[in-house]
Amino acid sequence: MRSGLSCRCSPFSSNARLSLRRSSTAPHHPILSLVPTSPSFPQLLQAHAQLVVRGLTASRAAMAHLLAHCALCTSAPPHYFHAIYARIDRPNVFAANNLLRCLARSAAPSDSLLFYSRSRRAGVLTNNYTFPFLLQACSRTPVVAEGAQVHAHVVKLGFDGDLYVRNALIHFYSSCCEMDESERVFNEFPERRDVVSWNAMLAGYARTGRIDVAEELFEGMPERDAISWSTMIMGYVQGGILEKGLKLFREMVDKGEMVNEAALVTVLSASAQLGLLENGQFIHSNIKARNFPITLAVGTALVDMYAKCGSIKLSKQVFDGMPQRDVFAWNAMVCGLATHGMGKEALELFQRFLNEGLRPTSVTFVGVLNACSRAGLVAEGRQYFKSMIEDYGIEPEMEHYGCIVDLLGRAGLVSEALELIEGMSVSPDPVLWGTLLGACKIHGLLDLGITIGNKLVELDPSHDGHYVLLAGIYAKARKWEDVIRVRRLMSNRGTNKVAGWSLIEAHGSVHKFVAGDREHKDSSEVYMTLEMIGRRLGEAGYMPDVSSVLHDIGDEEKVHAITEHSERLAIAFGMMVVDADLPIRIVKNLRVCGDCHEFSKMVTKVFGREIVMRDGSRFHHFKEGNCSCLDYW
Ligand code: ZN
Ligand code: ZN
Repeated sequence: MRSGLSCRCSPFSSNARLSLRRSSTAPHHPILSLVPTSPSFPQLLQAHAQLVVRGLTASRAAMAHLLAHCALCTSAPPHYFHAIYARIDRPNVFAANNLLRCLARSAAPSDSLLFYSRSRRAGVLTNNYTFPFLLQACSRTPVVAEGAQVHAHVVKLGFDGDLYVRNALIHFYSSCCEMDESERVFNEFPERRDVVSWNAMLAGYARTGRIDVAEELFEGMPERDAISWSTMIMGYVQGGILEKGLKLFREMVDKGEMVNEAALVTVLSASAQLGLLENGQFIHSNIKARNFPITLAVGTALVDMYAKCGSIKLSKQVFDGMPQRDVFAWNAMVCGLATHGMGKEALELFQRFLNEGLRPTSVTFVGVLNACSRAGLVAEGRQYFKSMIEDYGIEPEMEHYGCIVDLLGRAGLVSEALELIEGMSVSPDPVLWGTLLGACKIHGLLDLGITIGNKLVELDPSHDGHYVLLAGIYAKARKWEDVIRVRRLMSNRGTNKVAGWSLIEAHGSVHKFVAGDREHKDSSEVYMTLEMIGRRLGEAGYMPDVSSVLHDIGDEEKVHAITEHSERLAIAFGMMVVDADLPIRIVKNLRVCGDCHEFSKMVTKVFGREIVMRDGSRFHHFKEGNCSCLDYW
C-alpha cells in the first residue's frame, strides 16, 4: 500500500496552539451565563429565544454577547451572525470585534477584511482586540499584502506596542512563511515578547524547514511551554529527522514537562514511520501513566503505530478500547489488518463500520481493496471497486488501481488488469506497471512482461528497480544477452541507488545494519552467529538461491554477497539479543529478496523462533517455516 493515512492532526495549522487571546472563554451576560463554552447551533438558537422572550433583543450589550457566543460555535452559519449584527443599534467596538471573530473563523475569513473597512467608514472604533482577529483571518487565507496593510493600521493607530497585537503579527508573518518580516517584528521591542512570541517564531522556522535556526531559537528560549516542545518535535518529524524528534520527546518527558496531544500524535507517527515498537510502547506507557485521555487523534495514532510496528494484536486492543471512534480510526484499523495479510478480518470490520452507519472514504477503500487482494477475493474486490465509484461517488485514485491490479494479477487475470489500466482516466504510474510486471513474471507471461518492463524503464529511467525487474524477466525467458544488455544500461545511466538497511530495536536502542556491515560494535559476534545459522540451515537442507540476486529491487544485492544482506545481519543480531520466547522484529526499507525470505522461513523452522519483518511493501510474519504473505509479495 503506497498511501499514508491522511492525518487529522496536520501540524502548524492549529490556531489553538498559538492562542492569541488572553482568554478563550466568552464574556458573560447574566441571561447568557448558561450557554456552554463551545455551544452547538441549536443551543445558540435557544439562548437567542430566551433574549426574545425577555424582550432583550433591543439591548446592544445582550446582542453583542450573543455574537460572542456565536464566535465559539463551529456550526453557526454566516447569514446568522450577519443578521444578529445587523439588528444591533449603533454597534460599538465590542460588537464589531465579535463579528470580526466570527468571520475570521468562518469558511470565508477574508470577509472580515471587507467588514473591517466598512465599519471603519461607519466610524466604529478599534481596540487591541480588533487586530488579532483580522490578522488571524489573513493567516488563514493566507494573504500577505492585506496583512501588511493591517500591520500599517496597527502602527498608525498606535497599537504596535501591545503584546497581543505583536504576537498576532509574528504569527501572521510566520504562517505566510515571511520569516524576515516575522523576525523584524520579533526583534523590534525585545522587552515586549513572551513565550507565545517565541513559539510563533519557532513554528515559522519549522514550517519553512529551517530546522537549524529553529533549534538555535529553541535552545535560547528564556522559558518554554508544552507548545514550544511540541513545535520543535514537529519540526524535526516534518523535516524527516524522525530520530531527533523522538529523542527530544524523551527529553521532554525526562524534564517532567506536560505533554500535549500534538506532541503525542507527532511522536507516535514518527515511531510508526520508523517501525519502532519499543519507542511506540514507551509513548503509550507515558500516556497511561499520565492518565492522558485517549482522544480520537491519540487513539487513531496508537492504532496506526501498533499496526505499522508489527503488533496487530495491540493495535486491535487499542481500537476496541477507544471510547469513541471516527472514520479515521476505522480506516487505520481496516488498513492495518489488510497490510498484515488479515484480509478476512479487515472485511468483517468494514462490514461493522457500515453497520454503524458511517460513510467510507477513499482511504477506507484502499484498505478494503487491499484486504480483498490479500485474501484472494476476486469477485468481492471487483464488487467493492464498483460500489466505491457508483454508490459512494469516490473517483478511484492510483492506490485503488494499485490494489485492484494486484488482486487481478495475483489471480492470474493479467489481461483483465491490463484492460483496466488501459481504460484509466489518469495515466498509470510506474508502480502500477511494476505490479503488473510482477504478475506477468509469476504467471509466466514472459512476452507481455518484457513489453511492460521496457515501457517501465522508458517511463522512469532513473529507478534502478525497474531494470532489475526487466533483467529478471529476461532471465526467466532465458534471454541471457538481454539480461546483460539491461544490466549494462542500468550502470551506464547511473540510476538512483537506494541503499538497503534493516533496523532492529534492542534494550531501548535502535541498531541499523547495511549489507556487509562491519561497523556495528558486536560485528564479529554477528558474523559468527550468521555463520552458525548458515551451518544449521545447511544441515537442514537449505540452499541459497543465487538467481534471486536478479530480482531484488535493492542496490545492496549487486554489491554484496547475498549472504550478507542487511536483514540477515539483523536476524543474527536478533538471535543474540532478543529473548527466545519473543519475536525478532525487523524493519527493512526495501523489499526483501526471495532468498532472504526463504532464509527467514528456515530460521523460524530450525530454531523455533518467530520473525516479524516489515519490508518496503508489507509485513511478513514468519513462523514454523511459513510466512503470512504466502510467498507472494
Ligand atoms: Zn536479501
Ligand atoms: Zn513473506
